[in-house]
Amino acid sequence: MSLADNLRTVLASIAAAVTRAGREPGAVRLVAVTKTWPAETVREIVEAGQRALGENKVQELLGKVPELPAEVEWHLIGHLQQNKTRKILPHCALIHSIDSADLARQVSRLAGELGLTAKILLQVNVANDDAKFGFPVAEARASFGELIALPHLEIRGLMTVPPYDEDLEKVRPHFKRLRELRDELAAAYQCDLPELSMGMSHDFAIAIEEGATLVRIGSSIFGHR
Ligand SMILES: *Cc1c(COP(=O)(O)O)cnc(C)c1O
Repeated sequence: MSLADNLRTVLASIAAAVTRAGREPGAVRLVAVTKTWPAETVREIVEAGQRALGENKVQELLGKVPELPAEVEWHLIGHLQQNKTRKILPHCALIHSIDSADLARQVSRLAGELGLTAKILLQVNVANDDAKFGFPVAEARASFGELIALPHLEIRGLMTVPPYDEDLEKVRPHFKRLRELRDELAAAYQCDLPELSMGMSHDFAIAIEEGATLVRIGSSIFGHR
């Protein structure tokens, strides 16, 4: 199987999950997670039509930008250190991993200096897992009013990385909580929060059933890292 074949298989599984969930075709986009794979490997799926690529490290993302066609849309999906914000902002279509109010303020300020609006998601630690980055749910609620008012940020929605569990029914409640939190915040602040970034190789079908609009998939396309 070529990487293009793997990509088509993943896209077909996404489409099947969308249909099963009774959602509109095209309701879910694939972000292909390219971390650890060299640019020449990644190029195969770009040539097969994949546009949205996700990296979890700033340095690796920036290294691949000049190596791949300009039509690639880069997504940062891993923790962002504040000293790297200025470098990454011009190259990112969406930052999935804004995980503190401090970082959100800094991104807004630097985006303003650069004359752009940063499209972001707030990463929420719905499971209150100490090993994971993200706003605890209570903090996301408490900070949201301030963050939605930041001038150079466009909050597009929420993202989560639930704890790994082979039993997908144990993962489902985390996805459901993220969707419920999104619905609650959108209603309370009368804003549009269209994106829910949730679901990886092993659990994306469940995430789609629970409302994911962006699924972040690496190993099902590229193999094990
Ligand atoms: C690596 C990574 C993924 C992709 O995981 P796979 O299991 O390889 O699909 C998704 N989201 C984040 C935040 C990651 O770091």
